[in-house]
Amino acid sequence: MILTRLLLCLGTFTLFGACATQQEIDDAPDQSNLWIRDSAEYRAISTQVYRAASMALPALISDETWSAIPYQTSAENLPPAIIMDIDQTLVNGIDFQLGHEPPFTAQKFDDWNASHVATPVPGAPEFVKLARASGVRMFFLTNRYCDTTTGGSCAQKSIAVQDLIEAGIPAENADVSLAGERPIWGSEKKVRRDHIAENYRVIMLFGDDLGDFIPCVRRRPLAPCTEGGTIANRYTLTDEHAAYWGAGWYILPNPMYGSWTSVP
Ligand SMILES: [Mg+2]
Repeated sequence: MILTRLLLCLGTFTLFGACATQQEIDDAPDQSNLWIRDSAEYRAISTQVYRAASMALPALISDETWSAIPYQTSAENLPPAIIMDIDQTLVNGIDFQLGHEPPFTAQKFDDWNASHVATPVPGAPEFVKLARASGVRMFFLTNRYCDTTTGGSCAQKSIAVQDLIEAGIPAENADVSLAGERPIWGSEKKVRRDHIAENYRVIMLFGDDLGDFIPCVRRRPLAPCTEGGTIANRYTLTDEHAAYWGAGWYILPNPMYGSWTSVP
């Protein structure tokens, strides 16, 4: 009996970070998206991220030598801006993830977003309000894809703006950019970050995917990247940028999906 419990403890240590009881194992959700929906821990983490960012905000605004884009230079005289991802950074799509019939398609996601009231990631609306009140220009970059093939309208942009508003984050068309909105704006967000950095000193980045911070981390490289990401080089890149995490870069947890799921 003692040996059984010891083996159980050893076997579950890495999963639970401590020795779990059999009851805890039996009761544990087997899908990571349930953690997003049901755990107070998720709420605590996102609140923690946005609280930490709020505390860091004044210093990053006033330090005119600071940029959250490592290679941005000579930005002292540019106004400050913050770049934020939308899904699982500002807007919580957990109800879509739990409710849709696999496989995922952009059309299903668009239809769901258009027909449901969006909810915020805890802490996000308050942070955006604070940053704007502090004089920071906010940009929301999403890889929701702008489909202009049906009459050139890009309904997805209107949906994204409306989702932000529903989540308590005031937004206009000029605040939001989608993949595909311009011919050179693909899913590699570096291109759009660089476009913003031409006119703003980017003081913070927020996202739930490594690609919201570091380019060329997806399995399949997209322009301007020539090589894709791997588990090993994503670790290396994350470590090389260690000084930014929690100090200009703020990442939210997303165990449900992301570029991490497909890299070799
Ligand atoms: Mg996201």
